[in-house]
Amino acid sequence: MMLQTVTFTPRCATLTQTALKPFSAQRFHAQHSPTSNPSPHHHNYNLPQSFNPLYSSLQSPPLRSTSIKTVTMNRFQQLRSLNTSHPSLQRPSIPRSSTAPASLPTFAFAFDIDGVLLRSSAPLPRAAEALQYLHNNNIPFILLTNGGGKHESARVAELSSKLGVPLSIENFIQSHTPFKQLVESSETKEGLADKTVLVTGGDGDKCRKVAEMYGFKKVVTPGDILMAYPTIWPFNQIFSDYYRNNTRPLPKPVNLDNLPESLKIDAVFVFNDPRDWALDSQIILDLLLSKEGYLGTYSDKNGNSSLPNNGWQQDGQPKLYFSNPDLFWATSHHMPRLGQGGFQASLHGVWNATTNGATLDRTIIGKPHAATYIYAEDVLTKYRNQLSPASGVKAGKLDRVFMVGDNPESDILGANQFKSNRGTDWTSILVKTGVYRDGTEPAHKPVAIVKDVFDAVEWALGEEKWDGRID
Ligand SMILES: [Mg+2]
Repeated sequence: MMLQTVTFTPRCATLTQTALKPFSAQRFHAQHSPTSNPSPHHHNYNLPQSFNPLYSSLQSPPLRSTSIKTVTMNRFQQLRSLNTSHPSLQRPSIPRSSTAPASLPTFAFAFDIDGVLLRSSAPLPRAAEALQYLHNNNIPFILLTNGGGKHESARVAELSSKLGVPLSIENFIQSHTPFKQLVESSETKEGLADKTVLVTGGDGDKCRKVAEMYGFKKVVTPGDILMAYPTIWPFNQIFSDYYRNNTRPLPKPVNLDNLPESLKIDAVFVFNDPRDWALDSQIILDLLLSKEGYLGTYSDKNGNSSLPNNGWQQDGQPKLYFSNPDLFWATSHHMPRLGQGGFQASLHGVWNATTNGATLDRTIIGKPHAATYIYAEDVLTKYRNQLSPASGVKAGKLDRVFMVGDNPESDILGANQFKSNRGTDWTSILVKTGVYRDGTEPAHKPVAIVKDVFDAVEWALGEEKWDGRID
């Protein structure tokens, strides 16, 4: 790989006026650093920037009022204590009569995973039984999680074995699954398959591999950039052992004397919770301030009050995508922990301080955002259409989806506000096994609050006057 070494200027000398110079003069001055890691890719960077402290907090989406039913166990007690070894679970029990029903049930389920089916990777009590019942009774469901970080096939295999229920990638949606749609061109968008994208989040470079499996061909991670240019973040030594084994050479060096041959990032994807917030924040900020996504440049439009948004993000910078807005999530710790939404809020704060409160243009998917529910309903529709011939019945109409989740801010809000273009009703059910704390007022009110996923299924079956019984 050809690497460009350009002249070095001491860091303190470049911090002030560079931002105001014409683009051709705005560059990172770099040379091999005598103290840096001995990789041949290394350069020193000096960043032109001026910061204005201003922080405004992110606003939560508006609350939609719904009536809450708190449900205590009743009808599902009739289902008795289920376990997967019960003989009745080994066969479908929908057809209670001798003639098969004409179509699949008109309802289906969407389950969140963390805090509903699993907690800290361990199955929650009675979760397996609830899924097994649906599976055996041919009642369609999808798994709709704001989690991610692994390819769908790996996660499905893991979940199937933990829960003892056959699952498939056909009914499985992680936070980043909808990013697949950006690989190929559509009527309105140029595909990113052959563009260079920055992917961050997740362990090591697992998310890079997921992105490649989706079809993105040129995927760069912040670690790749750090190993090539360690001075891009001054505290690089702390994580260098972590990055050493999962980084790759950059597809192009930073070559500011010949921009067409310089590293250009066309889109930034936060695939999963970033592990190294500091480095990721710095590199994403660099790209948001750049000219056209060329790393190491600084747009001369930034701060120009004659332009929209005072010139910020007006110069072909890469689009920024977040896969998951959850501020908190349930882990093995006794209190919820910061999730990807925490990183987003942090980056937004840095952006506000840098730009004096300019709008940060970004795309957020994942629950509660409609894009994810639209995608989920498409997946569910396709999945029902596949189940239909397999079960010998018509798919029929889907009237209602029960969204079972533990997080009022994502699962519940998303289901409450989603307007299906198929006319399907999404009914929210909140469980007490995850983020939501029993006895508190949920920020977004579900249609029902139940103890756990088993009771959620029981409640929904009662609503649908489902007459199947396990006996
Ligand atoms: Mg959850």
